[in-house]
Amino acid sequence: MKQILNFINGEFVSTAKQFEKRTPLDNSIIGMVHEAGKPEVDAAVQAAHDALKGPWGKMTVVERTDILNKVADEITRRFDEFLEAECADTGKPKSLASHIDIPRGAANFKIFADVIKNAPTEFFEMATPDGKGALNYAIRRPVGVVGVVCPWNLPLLLMTWKVGPALACGNTVVVKPSEETPSTATLLGEVMNACGVPKGVYNVVHGFGPNSAGEFLTTNQGVNAITFTGETRTGEIINKAAAHGSRPVSLEMGGKNPGIVFADCDMDVAIEATIRSCFANCGQVCLGTERVYVERPIFDEFVARMKAGAEKLKLGMPSDPATNMGPLVSQEHRDKVLSYYKKAVDEGATVVTGGGIPAMPGELANGAWVEPTIWIGLDDNATVVREEIFGPCTTIMPFDSEDEVIARANNTTYGLAASVFTQNINRAHRVAAQMEVGLVWVNSWFLRDLRTPFGGAKQSGIGREGGVHSLEFYTELKNVCIKL
Ligand code: NAD
Repeated sequence: MKQILNFINGEFVSTAKQFEKRTPLDNSIIGMVHEAGKPEVDAAVQAAHDALKGPWGKMTVVERTDILNKVADEITRRFDEFLEAECADTGKPKSLASHIDIPRGAANFKIFADVIKNAPTEFFEMATPDGKGALNYAIRRPVGVVGVVCPWNLPLLLMTWKVGPALACGNTVVVKPSEETPSTATLLGEVMNACGVPKGVYNVVHGFGPNSAGEFLTTNQGVNAITFTGETRTGEIINKAAAHGSRPVSLEMGGKNPGIVFADCDMDVAIEATIRSCFANCGQVCLGTERVYVERPIFDEFVARMKAGAEKLKLGMPSDPATNMGPLVSQEHRDKVLSYYKKAVDEGATVVTGGGIPAMPGELANGAWVEPTIWIGLDDNATVVREEIFGPCTTIMPFDSEDEVIARANNTTYGLAASVFTQNINRAHRVAAQMEVGLVWVNSWFLRDLRTPFGGAKQSGIGREGGVHSLEFYTELKNVCIKL
């Protein structure tokens, strides 16, 4: 049986307490995860502190970024191992993970190596009463040990999206991967050692949230900053933990993202993007669309084409090139998603397609599969229109005017992303400006330039990641004032 170990101070560490990792494909056990207790978490934080004082803390930016470029190259060299591990943990199709998860996971190291090398800081020349003046300039310094708490939906990609910039800025990290997806973070430990990353710079502790590695890490006062991606409820708990010791926190949290489709859209573009935004990664994308508002004249056509698109999705094994949808991440998550499928019907939804468990062959029948699902006939107060489900499902609702749809789309406590489909350029700018979210796509979805700000408004997050915005979190900007 595969043993999935902690990675502390450059070494793989086993523990007496272990839990099963089951693949959602058929619910079989694929590994035993060694859960870090408080002593292991404390040791990882201490190792990360020591590493700040060691060679890592003394390296020039060029030396550090050369190593990070090697890390990216080594992930690419071991691409197939990362791909296997990610697909076994999540059940996602290889066609998806080989285009998104693994290449982006590697690219995150290269991108932030470039960002830190090219990011200028400010300089101000200042007049003084004695006429001699003063010069001010800002320098960036690492914040220290960063606690990185990760979700399961895009494990390697979202973890390196934090670890890449944190290390580029000269910090050290202790990563707590999701208990559902422990494998690629562990594999990355081997890569770090092979590339000459000094011991203690990158650490991984496995376990759960409360009374486990997540809580032990976020409450450890040796952690200087905490970055988190996951559910809003968990983010609030972590925000409280971070308040003790007044530590900075970056929170990327849940969403209930609207898609808005105007009658003047290019229908092919709107359908293609909305099928992806509702069903990609089995609907387990924080940016995914779970509410679609369609202008009434094209409502019936849009629903019919979404139904056809959903019914064309092929559920199956990750290795089958024809597969474009995997299972949900776990049986537990499937129970949650199916409870929403039931609630939608209880509250009066018409099921356009899906709504249940698909018939899967052989062993796959034991997996966490659900059907891609579309509902109509619900109003804005329905539970499935208000709460984040994180599954392959969406409600489609008609609207009659621009003002009406903006108000309805914004009527949520979340504020992560929105997508708008129209060919009227004035409308596109007007609507985008009024959406209460961190990211708006017009005539697309998930088109990401990694230099741009990424994050949520309202209860979807605190702070922004991406490009120089990540540097704001992972460095302390220090002003030096020199009196001449
Ligand atoms: P989750 O909040 O259940 O878990 C995330 C991580 O937090 C896990 O590693 C978990 O073990 C840990 N954790 C849980 N309780 C904790 C505690 N009390 N203290 C410390 N750590 C704790 O989220 P999830 O189910 O893994 O991920 C799905 C959620 O993530 C969805 O809500 C989704 O919208 C959100 N998400 C957001 C973004 C974004 O960029 N905004 C991206 C991906 C996912």
